[in-house]
Amino acid sequence: MMDTLEGLRYGALEERLAASGVNPVHAKPLFNAVQRKLLRGGLSEVEGVLPPLQRWLDSEVAPGHCPIDLVDETPSSDGFTRKYLLRLHDGAEVESVRMGFPGRYTACLSSQVGCAMGCVFCATGQMGFSRNLSAGEIVAQALHVERELRKDTGEQLRNIVMMGMGEPLHNFEPTMDALEILTDTRGLNIGPARVAISTVGYIPGIQKLARHPKRYSLAVSLHGASDAERGKLIPINKRWPLSDLLEACREYSAIKRARVFFAWTLIRGVNDSDDHAHRLANLLHGMDAHVNLIPLNPTEDYDGQAPDELRVRAFQQIIQDAGLPSTVRQRRGIDVAAGCGQLKAKKRSRLQRY
Ligand code: SAH
Ligand code: SF4
Repeated sequence: MMDTLEGLRYGALEERLAASGVNPVHAKPLFNAVQRKLLRGGLSEVEGVLPPLQRWLDSEVAPGHCPIDLVDETPSSDGFTRKYLLRLHDGAEVESVRMGFPGRYTACLSSQVGCAMGCVFCATGQMGFSRNLSAGEIVAQALHVERELRKDTGEQLRNIVMMGMGEPLHNFEPTMDALEILTDTRGLNIGPARVAISTVGYIPGIQKLARHPKRYSLAVSLHGASDAERGKLIPINKRWPLSDLLEACREYSAIKRARVFFAWTLIRGVNDSDDHAHRLANLLHGMDAHVNLIPLNPTEDYDGQAPDELRVRAFQQIIQDAGLPSTVRQRRGIDVAAGCGQLKAKKRSRLQRY
């Protein structure tokens, strides 16, 4: 597929224009139109486009730009969260979520259609892997959320989290290109520290990210404190076991001088006991770490439940007493099934039923 304007970094846009004999000064109004003014038709909505540039737009970049159409939108009763199901040029569908509250809105973006990692409790993992998203398709999700946010509230996005469908480090270059564009001061201008990349523990990706010039926030999905326990939930633990994973995290933390965030999805009777909490605290002892505790969102193909609130608090108390900072992720938007892949899964089962 041809590149789309959404997915071209500023420098790449200049190079592409120059290579086609068009003056690269046109990069500025083009980038501005797409990434800041959020014009969907790009320069066709801007007056005074000269014929050479128009010809370049028609021939070099996909006409109509990155097609991304809203299929389904689910508001949440909290009034702030919205979940969007978006259709791509080939009919594939991905989810993006707007989360947060006034002054602190966050877009949760997808990096792949489906996911190859197969975590048993995850609706996206249960779908299997279809394909990677292009940089343009990742950026277009953020632009969609920003457009709707500006319309609804007059506000702008402050944070991006790569916590939607897919494993972002398994689609490294397009994800990095997309984040380069979204953190560009000439575009949405999201601060790099306000971008979180969540990984299941894809070690080659963590190593590359540690050497990447930008300093994004790293979140690692742990969910188990031994290889045996983690491997039951996350099949790729067999290939990339815990000790190697923690070593990669320590390296990331040292190179970037950054705290690493660890996600722990709490599943009743599976990884929510006092013993699990103690072992988690031991595992991360001495690291600059923060734990996000996420009570499980039930999914169709996994027979697991979230613990009750008392159990969650008891778990948190133990790791806190061991000196490990943590946050229980608000279940804001639980009524929109704001767990990754769940809106699509819900729609699919609806379709299958009728
Ligand atoms: N592939 C990446 C990012 C997407 S998933 C990763 O796995 O980290 C984002 C987070 O949602 C991960 O921490 C994942 O473990 C968690 N998650 C997935 N399904 C969930 C569910 N049903 N309930 C609660 N958390 C879930
Ligand atoms: Fe993929 Fe993350 Fe879901 Fe695992 S939790 S299947 S890595 S999206």
